Amino acid sequence: MPLVPLRPLMEAAEKYNYAQGAFNVNAVAQAKAVIEMHETFRSPAILQGADLANAFMGGRVDFANGTLEDKKKGARNIANAVKKYGEHSPIPVVLHLDHGKNFDSCVAAIEGGYTSVMIDGSSLPLEQNIELTREVVKYAHARGVSVEGELGVLGGQEDHVFAATSTYTNPLDAVEFIQKTEVDALAISYGTQHGANKGKDAKLRREIPIAIKECINRLGIFCALVSHGSSTVPQYIVQEINGLGGDIQNAYGINVDELIAAIPCGIRKINVDTDIRLAVTRNMKELFAQQPALQKSPSIGGVYALLEEKKSAFDPRVFFPPIMDTVLTGNVPDDDVALLMSRVEAGVKEAVGSLIVNFGSYGRAPLVEQKSLEDMIDFYKK
Ligand SMILES: [Zn+2]
Repeated sequence: MPLVPLRPLMEAAEKYNYAQGAFNVNAVAQAKAVIEMHETFRSPAILQGADLANAFMGGRVDFANGTLEDKKKGARNIANAVKKYGEHSPIPVVLHLDHGKNFDSCVAAIEGGYTSVMIDGSSLPLEQNIELTREVVKYAHARGVSVEGELGVLGGQEDHVFAATSTYTNPLDAVEFIQKTEVDALAISYGTQHGANKGKDAKLRREIPIAIKECINRLGIFCALVSHGSSTVPQYIVQEINGLGGDIQNAYGINVDELIAAIPCGIRKINVDTDIRLAVTRNMKELFAQQPALQKSPSIGGVYALLEEKKSAFDPRVFFPPIMDTVLTGNVPDDDVALLMSRVEAGVKEAVGSLIVNFGSYGRAPLVEQKSLEDMIDFYKK
């Protein structure tokens, strides 16, 4: 089936009390692996492209400087990859824009084939955030596309999204925001953080989603709550990377039990990026350690050189430039690249598979109501 909007997945998660992981992808092989793992578990799937991932997938190795044109091109590349594997999949697959930073970014994603967008106005005062989000909702809902907003500020850094300190979401503001914007989903700040340094023993303030849910239920409004910055940062992977010569310090995630406990409080979408980055980085380092001849490979030796040069990095985008054609198109020129990409896919699957189980989305694909973008256009009109 064609890619589906986010809303029906969130409605099923609400009805049957589980959460969906939402996984960021920066390469064709990653999209393939995320979808295949969800198929294995009969889970619905949410794949995310972040604003800067779109710039990277537009061919910008220096993705932090990507232009709107680069992002448009990248949005199409990611959408094509997700469509290639998702449209013939037996499970419902959503392609969601993570942290759209303005109206134009959201439009670029929707034109590229995204079925759901996030507009992140969380750095604005409440009234302006409502106004911006409302504008995106109007544009997106007229096309059947779902919208996620954000209220409250998460500490930490993820691409260009940075805040030194957290401000927890005020449940009263959240209810007003949901009523006025009519978003399908809302990202809240309740103790999670972006990036790999969330601090040891991070605790989530579950009373925040509980309060918001209680109020919107009484008002008869649907809105799924979203947990950003929720990577678990598996310590065994960090230790393995460092054992292979990496230098990753103070990397701690959210304890998976904390996330599981937040699900009955109304958290229906849980964003994970760092776990995938770590597993992919470890697998690439491991391959070059196991097969040293590959370190001098004409096609992938450059990836090894970057892994050696940037020991504290674990963002695959930093290591991928020598194989950009494969990253962007999925074309595999030789056996060495094929082997490396198989390790990339295995890393994605390890990170994603364990979370599909922990968040309880396995076996749920048949429970999602089949609604197309056209169905949703009619739904929003009513
Ligand atoms: Zn985020």
